[in-house]
Amino acid sequence: MPLPSPNSAFTAADTYRHRGQRRALVAALRGRGIRDERVLAALGAVPRHLFFEPAFEAHAYHDKAFPIGEGQTISQPYTVAYQSELLAVGPQHRVLEVGTGSGYQCAVLLRLTPHVHSIELNANLFVATQRRLGALLPPGSPAPRLRCGDGSLGWPEAAPFDRILVTAGAPGLPPALLRQLAVGGQLVIPVGPAQAQRMVRVVREGPDAFAREDLAPARFVPLLGAGGWQ
Ligand code: SAM
Repeated sequence: MPLPSPNSAFTAADTYRHRGQRRALVAALRGRGIRDERVLAALGAVPRHLFFEPAFEAHAYHDKAFPIGEGQTISQPYTVAYQSELLAVGPQHRVLEVGTGSGYQCAVLLRLTPHVHSIELNANLFVATQRRLGALLPPGSPAPRLRCGDGSLGWPEAAPFDRILVTAGAPGLPPALLRQLAVGGQLVIPVGPAQAQRMVRVVREGPDAFAREDLAPARFVPLLGAGGWQ
């Protein structure tokens, strides 16, 4: 399935109907236990339908993942909210997202902090999403720094990061991401084989001290690359 071209996707308006659908989605996320009001406001503000091909727009406000081409998916809104809540992003935090995909999670993160870096491995997705975000974000609003490459190696020149979010499932904790976490920083990453992933949160408590919590079961496409699945 092709990604929406900037011209087809971004001329679509954010209508009263879309805003109503987002309010209903936010109410559903609240019902599923999301409590962070900044996260709920961010999902209420980002027009998810603009990350879809117009023909599939009807799926945009269902709480489901959806194919975006190249064998990848835009994450389920609950997952975006859950990961964002776990990450506890403040407006001063420098954030690295690994797995830009459609750019939806990136746009949500930008509502939480202006300091967002995001890396996508797939060159076709990267080009389409770079264009999409460029067209979607109003002039003068904070822009993410985007890169095409292996995010399992992080973004060494821009490190350290206060928060790192991985939106693909890894076999273990990528050492480069742990190194690039600021002391006091947090990494949220799904870890484990396809059928047995868990969401993991790691807090860097000191230069050599990391506290790991294994949380809810998860189901993500694989994190590829040097620090992912080979
Ligand atoms: N955050 C995305 C969104 O909001 O649409 C969803 C991400 S999708 C579930 C996972 C993404 O991770 C895919 O686009 C995939 O190409 C990307 N990916 C997989 N391995 C990667 C790596 N080593 N570095 C960067 N991106 C990677």
